[in-house]
Amino acid sequence: MDHQLSCDCGVCRLTLNDPVPRYSVLCACEDCRQALRWAAKFGGETPEDLLRGVYFRSDFSEIMGKEYIIATKLRNDNKSIRLFCKKCYSCVGVDHEAYQNNVFLSIPEHCSINFCITIEPKAVLFLQDYPGEIADVPSETIPVFHNMKYPQERARFRSIDPIGVTLSPPTTPAKGITIRDLIADLTIENLNLEPGTIP
Ligand SMILES: [Zn+2]
Ligand SMILES: [Zn+2]
Repeated sequence: MDHQLSCDCGVCRLTLNDPVPRYSVLCACEDCRQALRWAAKFGGETPEDLLRGVYFRSDFSEIMGKEYIIATKLRNDNKSIRLFCKKCYSCVGVDHEAYQNNVFLSIPEHCSINFCITIEPKAVLFLQDYPGEIADVPSETIPVFHNMKYPQERARFRSIDPIGVTLSPPTTPAKGITIRDLIADLTIENLNLEPGTIP
């Protein structure tokens, strides 16, 4: 069976060479929410305030519907590139400088994944951006990071196994196409959104 991550309408399909999730997080950052709210204007799902992110190896055997994928950046200094289907505005993947082309981020509630992912989150990220009163997070059992401004916080995050090794250059080369190979073929659209604004 092919392990596929696709958009909800099915025109964009990424076949993963390695379907084992590396780690998972819960993210409350305003950038994820802003990007998904932008996509929701065109038909994407409206995002929850706390999103589940799952990291997979940046290594695809096949990418179908590349002509329907748009690459976006929230603003000039933003380090994430988010890939959406231009028909249904599902998010089919996110790259960030820190991922080093070893992994990419998927947001399972904003795409379709044809296999079962059973992985518990390792951390809750950017809780200071959570817009509600109190986020319902298992903070007794999962470390919480309010922001990543301080090097101590980033070091604490990287010390969680296997986050440090995952956010490092790959130790074996990808067998197929990486997320950065894909992005290199696309034009990046700068959305020029002010931080935290609701599009
Ligand atoms: Zn689609
Ligand atoms: Zn986020």
